Amino acid sequence: MTTFEALGIDARLIQATDELGYVNPTTIQEQAIPILLSGTKDFIGLAQTGTGKTAAFGLPLLHIIDAAAKYPQALVVCPTRELCLQIVKEIELFKKYMTGISVVAVYGGASIGLQIRDLKRGVQIVVATPGRLIDLIERKAINLEQIKYVVLDEADEMLNMGFQEDIEFILKNTPARESTWLFSATMPPEIRKVSRKYMKDPKEVTVGKVNTANKSIDHQYYVTTAQHRYETLKRIIDFNPGIYGIIFTRTKLDAQEISERLTREGYDIDALHGDLTQQQRDKVMGQFRDKSLQLLIATDVAARGIDVVGITHVINYELPDDVEIYTHRSGRTGRAGNLGICVSIVHAKEMYKFKQIERINNSQFHKLDIPSGKDVCRKQFFHFMDKLLSADISHGDYESYVPMLAEKFADISKEDVLKRVAAMEFDRFLKYYENSEDLNLRERSRKDSNDRSEAPRRRDDRSEGRGDSRKEYSRGGGYSRLFVNLGTKDGFFKASFLQYILDMSDLKKEVLGKIDMKDMTSWIEIDKGASQQMIRSLDGKNYKGRRIRMNDADSGGPSGFVKRPRRGEG
Ligand code: AMP
Repeated sequence: MTTFEALGIDARLIQATDELGYVNPTTIQEQAIPILLSGTKDFIGLAQTGTGKTAAFGLPLLHIIDAAAKYPQALVVCPTRELCLQIVKEIELFKKYMTGISVVAVYGGASIGLQIRDLKRGVQIVVATPGRLIDLIERKAINLEQIKYVVLDEADEMLNMGFQEDIEFILKNTPARESTWLFSATMPPEIRKVSRKYMKDPKEVTVGKVNTANKSIDHQYYVTTAQHRYETLKRIIDFNPGIYGIIFTRTKLDAQEISERLTREGYDIDALHGDLTQQQRDKVMGQFRDKSLQLLIATDVAARGIDVVGITHVINYELPDDVEIYTHRSGRTGRAGNLGICVSIVHAKEMYKFKQIERINNSQFHKLDIPSGKDVCRKQFFHFMDKLLSADISHGDYESYVPMLAEKFADISKEDVLKRVAAMEFDRFLKYYENSEDLNLRERSRKDSNDRSEAPRRRDDRSEGRGDSRKEYSRGGGYSRLFVNLGTKDGFFKASFLQYILDMSDLKKEVLGKIDMKDMTSWIEIDKGASQQMIRSLDGKNYKGRRIRMNDADSGGPSGFVKRPRRGEG
């Protein structure tokens, strides 16, 4: 095992890493640091999060930066505000014994004025999210003329989030760039493309398996509407009669409520959540472990550390926010050489997030139709027949009852007996599913879905260029479409525009759907519940001396997408 000294790192940095308790470099550090210190220009490091990537680029950056030159020399671009802050925090710790080097974080959702002030202090390392960085470039508040080193951290994440154009813009606007270091957990073709275009003969290092997906897990998903989530869960359970599974919810309230509702409806389920005492928790876990409980519903926190053999299904009642949590959840099944199934109930608004999970997980997820009521009944029926056929009749004294049974059933055919048994077992299912509705959210082609209020565009298509192949979903509730008199001529790029409207309205990006930008105007899809807050925050305000006009595009104001003529119009 090598040491940081052997990698050739500055003694002051080693003093800091020693204090942080870093005894030996991690694999990515061991492999990347000598390359990055050797003067190699371009570098690709394929490594998962948590492998020590920050130090892998942070230590070499600090080593080679010119502390005497008080202008930005290194730019680290990363996908989120959290990561941005974390990187800065670590770099601060590493440079504890170095003087004259400063680092600043610039990210959306915080005061741009304060960040501009920080930048003016003569920083050498800028850690930024793409949207805010472009905003600063456009405002001429940051000087990238002398940036020598650009680090793209979690490059795949940034591309998944639709930042490809912004990344390319940043790379194009760093004319003195000598080295580009790209770190990514996966290597999708778009990243290859960026690396071919902007890097020269990059040295590539892969740590661990890039594809870490567990091949013994089949990832499946069903697409439905938000209001059909519970029904869909029931269908999934009913369609898998031998299921032994864990259902994950995001909140304890959901876990509790769904558990109570399913119990009332005759399901064998209990909940595990933070409000239980240790004794209650042990009881539930004991029952689940010895299989006297078929289903467990849990929050991520409560399910921490559960290791139960033989789980057939993990069901994501709602998707987690984090890919790592998804991997953690799905890893409860498919253990010890068994095959497992991880099912996610997804609704249209979550498709963007879901595609991200799929991509980072690096395995293909299978979209399935939510079984119809008929499918469920058929499946249950055959399962019951299998159970009937495999019933153990070797123990009880059944033989002595046979003459009585023969007499009782003398006038009934074998078929009729079977029908009666089936009726007893299935009445509940047949009645329940007799007129059951189709829970699938069906894709419709653009042509036959003219009514925009019912068929907003998919939000996973936020990036440009996919134009006409875009499909639409039908769903209730959904998006409003807002018009605003700001566009690319106002100097916005898509990411900076997104950041601007979110900063102004104090909303999270999850509320947004597709953004369609033209020269002077833009159209924004936004969750119905959030649209008024956005209008209130922007309409009437000033942007660069111009009054912003924002309104609901479909309620009489100017409209962008195909607007159907009203009666009497056109
Ligand atoms: P990262 O992948 O950069 O987010 O790092 C993951 C975690 O590992 C962080 O908490 C680091 O402080 C820690 N770490 C990084 N390098 C080392 C090392 N060589 N020895 C021990 N811990 C480390």
